[in-house]
Parts: sequence; structure tokens; C-alpha cells
Amino acid sequence: MRSRRDHIFVLSLLLVLLASQFVGCGTGGSGTPVAQDGVLDLRDHKFTRHVNLDGEWRFVWRDSSTNPSTLSDEHIDIEVPDSWNGYRYNGEKLPGHGSGSYYLTILLPEQSADYAAEFRTTGTAYNLFMDERLMGGVGIYSLDSAMSSPRYEPKIYDLGGLSHQVHLRIDVSNYHHRLGGLWESISFGTKTDVYSHRESRVAMELFMFGTIFVMGIYHLGIFSLSTRGKAALYFGLFCLLIGLRTLTTGAIFFHQLWPGVSWQYLVKIEYLTFFLGIPTFFLFIRLQFPDEIEKWAVQLVLAVSTLFVLLALFTSVDTFSISITWFQTFSLLSMLYVTYGLGLAFIRGEEGSSLVLLGFISIVIAFLNDMLYVGNVIQTGHLISVGLLIFILTQAFLISLRFSKAYDTIDTQRIKLERTNTAYQSEIEIRKSAENEVLNHKEHLEDLVKERTNELQVANERLNELSRVDGLTGIANRRRLDEELDREWKRMMRKKHPLSVVLCDIDHFKLFNDTYGHQQGDICLVNVATAIRDSVNRPGDLAARYGGEEFCIVLPETDAAGACQIAEIVRRNVKALNVEHKSSLVGNVVTLSLGVATIIPDPGSDPSMLLKAADRALYQAKGNGRDRVEQNLVE
Ligand code: GH3
Ligand code: MG
Ligand code: MG
Repeated sequence: MRSRRDHIFVLSLLLVLLASQFVGCGTGGSGTPVAQDGVLDLRDHKFTRHVNLDGEWRFVWRDSSTNPSTLSDEHIDIEVPDSWNGYRYNGEKLPGHGSGSYYLTILLPEQSADYAAEFRTTGTAYNLFMDERLMGGVGIYSLDSAMSSPRYEPKIYDLGGLSHQVHLRIDVSNYHHRLGGLWESISFGTKTDVYSHRESRVAMELFMFGTIFVMGIYHLGIFSLSTRGKAALYFGLFCLLIGLRTLTTGAIFFHQLWPGVSWQYLVKIEYLTFFLGIPTFFLFIRLQFPDEIEKWAVQLVLAVSTLFVLLALFTSVDTFSISITWFQTFSLLSMLYVTYGLGLAFIRGEEGSSLVLLGFISIVIAFLNDMLYVGNVIQTGHLISVGLLIFILTQAFLISLRFSKAYDTIDTQRIKLERTNTAYQSEIEIRKSAENEVLNHKEHLEDLVKERTNELQVANERLNELSRVDGLTGIANRRRLDEELDREWKRMMRKKHPLSVVLCDIDHFKLFNDTYGHQQGDICLVNVATAIRDSVNRPGDLAARYGGEEFCIVLPETDAAGACQIAEIVRRNVKALNVEHKSSLVGNVVTLSLGVATIIPDPGSDPSMLLKAADRALYQAKGNGRDRVEQNLVE
């Protein structure tokens, strides 16, 4: 859909411009009068529009001996507009350099009117006479090549009120261009028409220049702002070249802008814009269609153009102006090649190829038109700048199209990026909060672990304690006894001090159980244990339940006598509890038998020997009647 709209845009542009050009430049078509034998009959011409003084003029080649004011018999007929080069004069072909006089008699309507004539450029200086009266001129006309000076300057001559007939004579001299003579049409008409015609042409030219120049600046601006805008660079340069060219042709505004520039430089600039324009254009097309326009073709165009550019730069107009036909042929070939390449791109359906092709075809049409116009086949006027303008506009449109596409792409990419960004952002936030949660849990876990560890430690300590305490009596148990005994054993061994143990066994306890029951037996055990424990006070001493109704007291730093004393105290204290034991064979209260053993530990003995000795003493106490203390030596 979009591409169809493009085509409509370009087509309508093309039509509007072509139409405006035709309206502005048409000169009347087939009814236009033409000069014959040096006479232009305008008696029946309606001067609604100007005419071109085209056709057969009389011409005399001049040298210092001839008098220009009279028409000599040697005159020939010569075509205007045309250069005089190649016309046969006295049997010889005319050279480009020299001077000559052009004569034309114009037959006018009876009615007098104000007339004017407009000259464009001539090769390369002239003076205009009307009825042998000098009306003015451009450049310096002279028979002397050193005196003659060339100049291009479009000019309108007010010829005043005229009727019946008028004789024009134009003396032309040329010593600077390879061609000489009246090579462009001179238009003639009523003063108002000639001036208004020039005004509309000038307006058109300025419009073209302005449009093309602004395009050039715009695209150079694009190039300077974007790194990939090489196409914009070539296109901008191409526009500036074409713009500059419009200043050097037609009304030649170049003179208005830079009055001091010589004719030589003006022509150089005009040619250079052509010689540089073709390769710039080629580079531009090649950038857009690299698959269709071959590299060798670009290199060829660049090489050839460089040659012509050098020629224009370093030789005189006379020399390099010869090259123009060659370069025209060359550019025609290049255009054919470009047409081929663009056609190929169009067939392949490459992006933008239809637009470029359309613009380019408008150039080709304009080019062909100009050739036909110059050859006097058609009367349309010069169209090449219109063709170029159309091409430039299509290109500008295409480039803006590409830019807007690029902007579209950027936009969609930006939106995509933004979306991804937001997605990432929320993802990041989710992850962050998850991380925080984990961190919190971690801290919490650490606290929890600490707490549990502490609890465990406490429990462990408690367990440890419990594992060393006798469940029933609350005094140290057998395990604690073994540990303490072992430790004290080693300590006493180091200090070589005596270590004593006392084994206590309740007398006839079986009978007690039988008499009072097991429960009472347990209570009795608790009381006895408490009494035993309370009977030993020294820090190192330990009272422990040895097993069943047997208890053991460890007494470090205590010799046999000391141990017996403590055993005696224990015996008495338990007896003093006065726990009834009716069935005892020793008395009617609970009593203890105790066995004491003492040793200064040494590496050759161990704690079990001490206990065995105490056990033997206990056995003796039982045997000796119970309720007593016996001691024994370690064997
Ligand atoms: P002896 O004077 O010869 O020591 O006579 P005895 O009856 O005390 O004999 P022995 O020491 O061999 O008897 C131990 C008795 O102690 C056996 C059991 O009925 C009692 N006994 C051992 N442990 C406990 C206990 O934890 N609770 C109770 N109630 N009785 C126990
Ligand atoms: Mg016992
Ligand atoms: Mg007993």
C-alpha cells in the first residue's frame, strides 16, 4: 500500500512540473515564423507571444579590410541558432576563432509598437546594431584577438517603437571558445511580453535553484548527523553541484552573486559541475544498488571523470570545451548503463528501485527532449533541469522514506527494549525480595541453631550430670565413682600420697526387704546414702552408690588411720538414723559393715586392687559380726 502511495506522489509531481515547464517555455509550435534569406517576415504575426529570431541569417566573415556596415557580396546564409564553425566561406570551412557579422531584416506590422529583443549567450562577444545604430553589446567585440574579451550575460535590449521594417546587425567575435557565433536563439517581441517571459523564466530558475540547493544542504545535514548516511553525502553533493550549475546557465545568476568572476572561471565551473555531477550521481546509485551497478563501472566512471575534471581545471576553455561532446557521449553511455542496472533492480523487486527508476526515467526523457529541442525537432524548451529536479525530489522522498522506516524500526525496538526492561526490573525485584527472605531466614536459622545448640548443651550437661548421679539416692553413681577414683589414683600417684576407700554394706538388708517391703527398702537406701554423704566433708572426698545396698567412699590424701576414723563416723551416723530393722540379726536398727583399704598408688598397681582389698576388709567385718569397721592392706 505504501509503495503505491509513493508512486502516486511522484507521478503527480512529475506531471505538475512538466506541465508548468511546457506552459512556461513553449514558443508557439508549428506556426512560428522562420527567417529566410536574411529576412524574417512578421507582418502577419500576432505579437501575443515573442518569437525566436531563428532561421537563415546573412553572414559575412570579417577581417580588418572589410567594412561591416555594408553587406558585401561574399555573404553566405547561416543558421541561427548555431555556431559558425564548419560553414563554407570562400571555399574554406570557417574556424571557431575569428569574427563575423550577422544580418537580419525583420518585416513588422504597419502598426507601431514597442519592441524588445532578448539575447542569451553568444560565442563569445558581440555588439548589436539596429539600423546601423549601436544598441549595446556584451564582452568586448574586436577583430584583434588580444583586444577581444568574452562574456556570458543574458540581456534585453529595448528597441523602442518600431514599424514596417528593421535591420539588425550583430558583430560577433570569438577567440576564447572552440565555437563561435550566435549559438542560442534571440527572442523578439513586444517589450511587455519579452520582460514578462524573462521574469517567469527567472522565477522558475530561482525556484529550481532554491529547491535543489536546500535539498543539498538538507542531505549534507543528514550526513553530518548520521554515521551511515553516505548516500545522503553523495546525494547532497550532487544537489549542490546541480544547484551551482543552474547558477551558471540560463539567467546566469552567478554574475549577480559574484560579479568579479571571469568568463573563463564561469565556464570552468559550469563544466566542472557536469564532470563532477556524473561520478557523484554514479556513486550515489551504486550505494543504493550495489548488486546491479558493477564496481568496475564505478571505477571506470570515476577514472574518466577525473580526467575531464583535470582537463577543465588545467586547460583553457578553448581546449577543454572540445571535450564536452566526448563527455556527453560518455555520460549517455553511463546513463544507459544506469538504466540497465535500475531496470534489473526493478525486475528483482529491490526496495526503492521503482522510485529511483521513475526519477531516472524523467532525466532520460528530459535529456532526449533537450537533444530534440536543440536539433529544432520539437519546440518544448530545455527540460534537463526539470528532469533533474524530479529525480532529486524522488530521491529525497526515498531517503526520507528510508529514514522514517529507520525511525519506525527504532521505535519498535525501543518499545521492545522497554518491555524487556520492565520485565527484568520486576524479575530483579522478585529476586531481591526472595533474597531478602532467604537472608532473614538465614539469620533466623542461625539464631535458632544457636538457641538449640545452647539448649542441647544444657541438656547434655544435665545428661552428663544425670549419668553420674544415682537415680534413687541422689548421690554419685558407680560411673562417677570410677572416674573420680581413677583421677584421684593418678593424682595421688603423682603426689605419692595415700588414697583410701571405704566399702559400706547394709547388714541383713535382704531381711529388711523381706520384712518391710521393697519400697521401704528403697526409702531406707536413700536415708543411708544421705547419711553417708553427709558424713564426709572434705572437698576431694566422694560418697557413691557402689551397687545394690553397697556404698563406697573415696578419700584422697587420707591414710589408713584417717580412713578408719571416717568409716567409724559413717557407721555411727547410719546407726544413729535409728531406722527400725526388727529382723536384723545384729540389733533392731539398720547398721553398716565397713571395709577400709589404703594405698599410696604406684604404676605397678591399679584402683581395682584397692577396691578388692576394701572388699576383703568388708568381708572380714561381716565375718567378725557385722556393724563394725575392718581394714585391710593392699596386696
Ligand atoms: P549381709 O548382712 O550378709 O550383707 O546380708 P544381706 O541380706 O544384706 O545380704 P546381701 O548383702 O547379699 O543382700 C543384698 C540384698 O539387698 C538383696 C536385696 O534384697 C537387697 N537389695 C539390693 N539392692 C536393693 C535395692 O536397690 N532396693 C532394695 N529395697 N533392696 C535391695
Ligand atoms: Mg551386699
Ligand atoms: Mg548386706
